[in-house]
Amino acid sequence: GRQFFVGGNFKMNPVTREQKNALVKVLNDADIDTNVEVVIAPPALYLIPLKETLRKEIQVAAQNSYFKTSGAFTGEISPAQLVDAGIPYVILGHSERRTLFHETSELVADKTRAAIDAGLRVILCVGETLAEREAERTKAVVDAQLAPVVAALTPADWDKVVVAYEPVWAIGTGKVASAAQAQAAHKDIRAFLAGAVSPAVAESTRIIYGGSVTAANCKELGGQPDVDGFLVGGASLKPEFVDIINTKR
Ligand code: 13P
Repeated sequence: GRQFFVGGNFKMNPVTREQKNALVKVLNDADIDTNVEVVIAPPALYLIPLKETLRKEIQVAAQNSYFKTSGAFTGEISPAQLVDAGIPYVILGHSERRTLFHETSELVADKTRAAIDAGLRVILCVGETLAEREAERTKAVVDAQLAPVVAALTPADWDKVVVAYEPVWAIGTGKVASAAQAQAAHKDIRAFLAGAVSPAVAESTRIIYGGSVTAANCKELGGQPDVDGFLVGGASLKPEFVDIINTKR
């Protein structure tokens, strides 16, 4: 079986260390389902403090990494630096990076290759815009986002990857995908992996949903057969994140 996975993507939040410490306290004091893999992605500045202060059951992820090991790449962080700091995961291909920072699927594939080579696990984000969904291009768009990554990885690399399906129209909008929409997209992603990589990889790869997940909608979404967890933005900064971690209880 695929272990349920709940990620908290803090994005560029919070703004103060005091607020960051308060979030750590909520998580450290909470009664959380130990069957769930929980990963928090804070701003890079807080990676090491979070790793040092969070309870050991909760892992930490970077929100981005570059595809080079070191050198003249101002502002970037390398996968090797993350591994040296004891950070196990990185989020790659988030829609905000694709849109605001012009990351292509080819760049995301290069970053994924480099992250896995360095020893990181990758939360790989894909998802369509509203216009693409309305044009019935969701599967084509998501498959095209995945294809360069498939080309860059070996089948064995996929046990280092969690795929996050995050429809752009659902991110930060309060317009969550319906359980049926999420299930259909996840099933399509699994079918793509079965054909492009292997049926075994498709069966074992976690596909998590992101986009306006809340304590109120997580149970129905999490009950879908191909929804293996969540990547949570806004609600990961609130105490309700604990209820999302405990979706399966
Ligand atoms: P929201 O949960 O705020 O919609 O963000 C989702 C997301 O982008 C997680 O990576």
